[in-house]
Order: sequence, then structure tokens, then C-alpha cells
Amino acid sequence: MKTTKKIVLPENEMPTAWYNIVADMPTKPMPMLNPKTKQVLTKEDMEPIFAKALIDQEFSQERWIEIPDEVRDLYRIYRPTPLVRASGLEKALDTPAKIYFKNESVSPVGSHKLNSAIPQAYFNKIQGIKHLTTETGAGQWGSSLSIACKHFGLDLRVFMVKVSYEQKPYRKAVMNTYGAQVFASPSAETEIGRKMRQQFPGTNGSLGMAISEAVEEALKDEYTRYALGSVLNHVMLHQTIIGLEAEKQMEIAGDYPDVVIGCFGGGSNFGGISLPFLRHRLVDGKQVRVIAAEPASCPKLTRGKFAYDYGDTEGYTPLLPMYTLGHDFQPASIHAGGLRYHGAGTIISQLRKDGFVEAQAIQQEETFKAGILFAQAEGIIPAPESTHAISVAIREALKAREEGTEKVILFNLSGHGLIDMMSYEKYLQGGLHNFEIEQSTIDSSIESIQSLQP
Ligand SMILES: *Cc1c(COP(=O)(O)O)cnc(C)c1O
Repeated sequence: MKTTKKIVLPENEMPTAWYNIVADMPTKPMPMLNPKTKQVLTKEDMEPIFAKALIDQEFSQERWIEIPDEVRDLYRIYRPTPLVRASGLEKALDTPAKIYFKNESVSPVGSHKLNSAIPQAYFNKIQGIKHLTTETGAGQWGSSLSIACKHFGLDLRVFMVKVSYEQKPYRKAVMNTYGAQVFASPSAETEIGRKMRQQFPGTNGSLGMAISEAVEEALKDEYTRYALGSVLNHVMLHQTIIGLEAEKQMEIAGDYPDVVIGCFGGGSNFGGISLPFLRHRLVDGKQVRVIAAEPASCPKLTRGKFAYDYGDTEGYTPLLPMYTLGHDFQPASIHAGGLRYHGAGTIISQLRKDGFVEAQAIQQEETFKAGILFAQAEGIIPAPESTHAISVAIREALKAREEGTEKVILFNLSGHGLIDMMSYEKYLQGGLHNFEIEQSTIDSSIESIQSLQP
């Protein structure tokens, strides 16, 4: 009998609540700190920046948080996403392992980011907020939030890192198509932007500068708030829809994963696919392993330090207890832009510290090789970020071949790569290389955050 290729969940079986793993964690995450006073950050501290419902979620210890009907309605455009048996990849690897992937690339923007953009726009809308601001690097988050804001009648201003704005004009066009305004950052729209332009004429911009501009606008107007696409607890929470659907689909397939894998930028898609399965380990003692796949050029989970650090490069955000390379760390310009972040969200960091999360760092050449193998075997060109998860899945499948074990592997395909073909082109031309980071570089970057510790 042929195995089922695609396990499709009916619309009416889409999960009705997100899963908050904090309720089941043996050690709760340490609190965020106010960067000025180093006192425990309060909900009130965050209210000028984020919608109240999102702040409540950020601090919540409730296990299940209901997904509002309006959010579920919009999820229905592309959810439930299919779970796919990677039979082509299994064959190409000649492995006895069964490989499954959750296909988040089917969303209108081509990635998982919409899963959090929709609820973030919704909770701002019902509070009476009129405008949102955000930053975007490569454009995945900005595009997602543009769709969500248009739907809920909010206007959106996106500060896009100048170098991306110039190199990736189609991403800007995508956001404009959905009705958002996009500015190359640093821009002339904000005080901090004007100051940066004066101080550093011709600068390429940075994510840190773009965040500062977006936050400045949110702070200046009582009907404006800011939205962030990764790292924070509430973002991780929204993304658990991925794993909750996969849990039901694996059951339909009649399998249970021995290992669950996701690529790792700030942790949102990794947390999304893995936390609902990690729950079985915390609550029922299941032996499921979860592995974060990070780039060797930005190895916060494998070579970083667990410490308090800023969430951004300029030091405007609260201090977060997390695995970090130091907020000054400058990763090489690898082609998985979404993974070039210096820290890991606080929930994943605590779980890693307590031994529940494994991590592997992968070099760029291995990831593109894996991406091309996957494209040829399964027909989908994966996002450069997602190729990190594919690389670890391949490593696990080859290990299963050596050991002769019929292991079940599940990974998240966080996005497709059709808007990243320049990177593939460069790889195919032989122009992409590995980067080794000297330990002393990491040490000195981490050294610089010693003074931030309470
Ligand atoms: C943004 C992005 C990532 C990394 O972000 P996480 O918060 O770690 O999930 C991974 N894959 C794709 C396709 C992205 O757009």
C-alpha cells in the first residue's frame, strides 16, 4: 500500500487555543528587567509600546489561551497547513527513517510569520489602536503584518533596513500592495532616524536602528503601538498553532516523532513546532527530542552565554534572560537573514538551560546543499532559513541509516525560498562560503554585557 503523502486536517479541526508551555515548565523563565532601574519589568512598563492583551499573554502562566474567532477566520485563508511525508527525501537518502515536515510555506507571504501577525493586529484593533509600527529586515515580517493590518483596518508604517530596501525592492512592493507604508531606515520620519543620518551619512542601517525608529513612533502617539515578529513569549505562543496541528496530523498518520526540528532565529517557528510535543515530555514523560538548528555564524544556543541582555543592538529594549552572543555581536552576512539574531527567546533559553532543548550549529554550505537536495526530492525550494532545519533532519536520517533504526523525524518548513533566489544563484555559482568565528570574538562580545547583569 502506498503511504499517504499529505495529511490534511479539516478546517473545523483547527486548534481553538494556543499552548503556553510556561504552565508546565519545571523552572519558570526568569523575569525581564527594566533596563534603567534593573527592577523586574512590570506590565505597566510595556503598555505604551504593546497592546494590553499581548502584554497579558507575555506574562501569562495559563496553559491554554483561546484563539479569538476573528483570528481563526483569517487563519482559514491558509490553515490548517498540510503535514507532508517527505517520501522523496527518504528515497534520496536511502534511509529507514520516516521524515515528515509541516509546510508553513503555504501562507500567502510564504512563511510562518503570519501566524503571529494576525493575532497581534487583532488584539491592537480591539483595544482601539489605530496605527502600528514595526521594523523588517528581509521583509517576511513586514509583509505578514501588512496583510493583517489591512484586514483589521489599522494602518502600518514599516521601517525597513536601508540595505534590504535597496537590494530587495520586490519585498517593499509586496508590503505596498497590501497597503503599508515602507521607509528605508534610518529615515527622515523620526528624531532618531534624522540623528543617525546626520551622524552616519551613507549608513546601510541596521535592525537595531529600525527598531528604535518604530518604537519612537509608538511612544509618541497614544493610538500607535509597536509589533515584533519573534523572540517574545506572546509570539512563541501564537506560533504553537503549528505544533498543535502537527500533533493531530501525526496521530492521523499513525506515527509519533522521535525528534522534532526547527530552524532558529529568535525561536518563534522552532517553539511553534516543538513546544506542543515537548509538553508530552514534561507532562507524560515521552522520550521526544527537540533540536534547534542555528547557523554556525550566529551560534547563540551552542556557543552563547545565558545572561541578561538587550533584545536589540542599540539597547532600547528590556533586559531579557537568554542565551546570547552579546547585543554588539555582528554576524557575518549569511544568506539566511532571518537567523542573524544575537539572542534566543526567554522560554526556549530556560528550557535549553534545563536540558530539554538540543541545538546544532550548521555551516552555510551544508544548508544550501540540503536545500537543493530537498527542492529536487520534494519540489519545494525552501527558504534559506528553513534549510537549517532540513540539514539537521538529514543528519538524523543518515544516522538512522547507519544504525538501521526506523526513527520518525518531524521538521518545520518555515518558508519557501522563491523570494530568495539570489542566494541560491550565488551558491550555484560557487560564491557562498562557510564562516568560522574565532572564540575570542564571541568572548569579547559576551564580555561587554557583564555590566548589564543585576
Ligand atoms: C523569520 C524567519 C525565520 C526565523 O525566525 P524565528 O522567529 O526563529 O522563527 C525562519 N524562517 C523563515 C522563513 C522566516 O521568515
